[in-house]
Amino acid sequence: MQLLFVTAVAIAIHGGAGTISADKSTPEQNQAIQTVLTAAINSGHAVLTTGGTSLDAVTIAVSLLESSALFNAGVGAVFTYEGTHELDASIMDGRNRAAGAAAGVKHVRSPIRLARAIMEQSPHVMLAGTGAEDFARSVGLSMVSNDHFSTERRRKSWQRFRQSARTAADPNWQYGTVGAVALDQHGNLAAATSTGGMTGKRWGRIGDSPVIGAGTFADNESCAVSATGHGEYFIRYNVAADICARVAYQNVPIAKAGSAVIDRLTEVEGTGGVIAIDSQGEIAMPFNTQGMYRAAIDAQGKLSIGFYKDIFYP
Ligand code: ASP
Repeated sequence: MQLLFVTAVAIAIHGGAGTISADKSTPEQNQAIQTVLTAAINSGHAVLTTGGTSLDAVTIAVSLLESSALFNAGVGAVFTYEGTHELDASIMDGRNRAAGAAAGVKHVRSPIRLARAIMEQSPHVMLAGTGAEDFARSVGLSMVSNDHFSTERRRKSWQRFRQSARTAADPNWQYGTVGAVALDQHGNLAAATSTGGMTGKRWGRIGDSPVIGAGTFADNESCAVSATGHGEYFIRYNVAADICARVAYQNVPIAKAGSAVIDRLTEVEGTGGVIAIDSQGEIAMPFNTQGMYRAAIDAQGKLSIGFYKDIFYP
């Protein structure tokens, strides 16, 4: 006899922690961001409430955010030092720790769909650069020219970057990322993250977003996490996996595990935040920046949205 295991569903998404600043954003921009976050979270949640998988929910939510010019992923990605775009993404399935990641791709319309294809249709976990693009073509993914991802806003910020003496490792420089975590009716967790990285990055720099355990992690036994922030710190502190390890081995609530890891980053001046969900659908969204664009629909079906410290219920 097959046991059918039905749990409550829940989902959280983020649109990055780095680019956000209360004094720089206009009410119109905030309204536009709220509209896209709402559309993305609703699309993921609709997958879950109709019996779909957490993998499909996070893929749909992230690909929608990638197609919005408001976030640093897909269209709207930041510029590299040379004035191009190099995109990173990853996805993980909490059922069996299957994972896929793409790093430094320039012509794949949806890096998260490439990460998913790598997980499902290749024998590998991570593919990079032109090889990843050859694979993308071989599985029929949509390819675009590199300037498909360009926006005037990001170009201006790159020009300011080039005129200043800053380096891409400067945490005050603009970055940002998108991500999603979800729990489906079958009790399965999934996480997905997609980014353009940091403005002015060079030398083939890869951040945490495509690194499993750093920017993305999912395991049904503990939790699912998607991160945003200064990637070098998230790699060094293995942030996403550390949060889930604390849930698994210390048996602490997701909120406590998430804050402990972000507090640890704060001590070493690593900036950013995460969205995290556990196997019961409990959601935590800690960050140590001024804000983090985020939205959640919890296990009771309640939608919340936050930009800065406060959360509101539209
Ligand atoms: N974590 C990303 C990176 O370092 C950037 C971000 O999240 O804003 O590439």
